[in-house]
Amino acid sequence: MSIIDISRRLEQGTPTWPGDTPFSYSVSWSKEESGSVNVGKLEMSIHTGTHVDAPFHFMNNGERIYDLDLELYVGPALVVDVTNLSSIAAKDLEQIDLTNVSRILFKTNSWTDYTKFPEEVTYIEADVAPFLAKHNIKLIGVDVPSVDPLDSKELQAHHALHTHHIHILEGLDLQNVTPGWYELMAFPLPIVEGDGSPVRAVLRSHNK
Ligand SMILES: [Zn+2]
Repeated sequence: MSIIDISRRLEQGTPTWPGDTPFSYSVSWSKEESGSVNVGKLEMSIHTGTHVDAPFHFMNNGERIYDLDLELYVGPALVVDVTNLSSIAAKDLEQIDLTNVSRILFKTNSWTDYTKFPEEVTYIEADVAPFLAKHNIKLIGVDVPSVDPLDSKELQAHHALHTHHIHILEGLDLQNVTPGWYELMAFPLPIVEGDGSPVRAVLRSHNK
C-alpha cells in the first residue's frame, strides 16, 4: 500500500511566520566529541511547516496539544479541490457529499512558492465552521500556514472552528494529491504544554 507524504520539509531556510523562530537543526554533540554518536539539537516555531494547532495557541485557557484526542489525527479524510477560490465559504461546499466525512482537507494550491512565506492565501470564512459541524466534521486541514487570512488578528476562523469542536491541521502539501478519499495519519508529538505540534502527515489510499 503506497503512502503519500503531505508534509513539508524541515530544513535551514524553511519559511516561517514573519518574526517567528526560524527552523534550525544542528549537531550539538558530534561523534568526535562524544566518542560514539552524533546528537542533534532542534529549534523551531511549532507553527512552521506541517503542524496542528491546539486551542491554547489562540486562547489562554485553551487545551494543550497533549490533551487532544489522537483519534482526530488518524482515519478517513476527504481531500477537496478549492483551487480557484480566494476564500472558502459554506456556499462553496454545498455541492460536496459530506456523508460520513469527519476529516476534510482543502487543496487550495494558493501557496505557490514553498521557498517563501506567502503574502496572501485562500482562507476559511467564519460560516464554514457551523456548516462543517452540522456534518459532524471534527478536523479540517489546509495547505497554507493558517485557516485565517495571514494578517488577521481576530482569527475568526480559528475561533469559530473551536466553538464548533473542529480541530486544525495546517501547512499541508497537497500539490500532488488527487482530490478524493484517503486515510490520514498526522500525529502530534506529546508536548505536554504545547500550543500545537509539528506532524508527519501522510495519506494512504482508502475506499469510502
Ligand atoms: Zn498554526
